Amino acid sequence: MRPEERQLEVIEEKRRKERYVVEEMIRLYCRKNHKGYDRKAGKMCPACWELTEYARLRSEKCPFMEDKTFCSNCRVHCYKPEMREKIRQVMRFSGPRMLLYHPVLAIWHVACSIKEKKKQKEERKL
Ligand SMILES: [Zn+2]
Repeated sequence: MRPEERQLEVIEEKRRKERYVVEEMIRLYCRKNHKGYDRKAGKMCPACWELTEYARLRSEKCPFMEDKTFCSNCRVHCYKPEMREKIRQVMRFSGPRMLLYHPVLAIWHVACSIKEKKKQKEERKL
């Protein structure tokens, strides 16, 4: 495999992982906070589903996937304000709880956040 292809694959993998984490976080948030959550089917309410779709679309269109580690750490906030507020609430709620339900994902997310913050700090110094 050529290096460019390898790189593309890494980015795709990141995208998939990010989408999965975001979806799990929204699902958890919905399950604990919304009456519209369908426990039997494990389906989130329509508003949360919309947010998930929105996040997925943003991730697909993100031109910074190569550099950034996670949408919530991104310095270019491409979410519209209303959606950004919603996703913030989800992160605030589900972030700490992910450690219980999905420890591996949660640790990965935290590690990414630390790396990203460090990088941004270093860039400001330049
Ligand atoms: Zn919901």
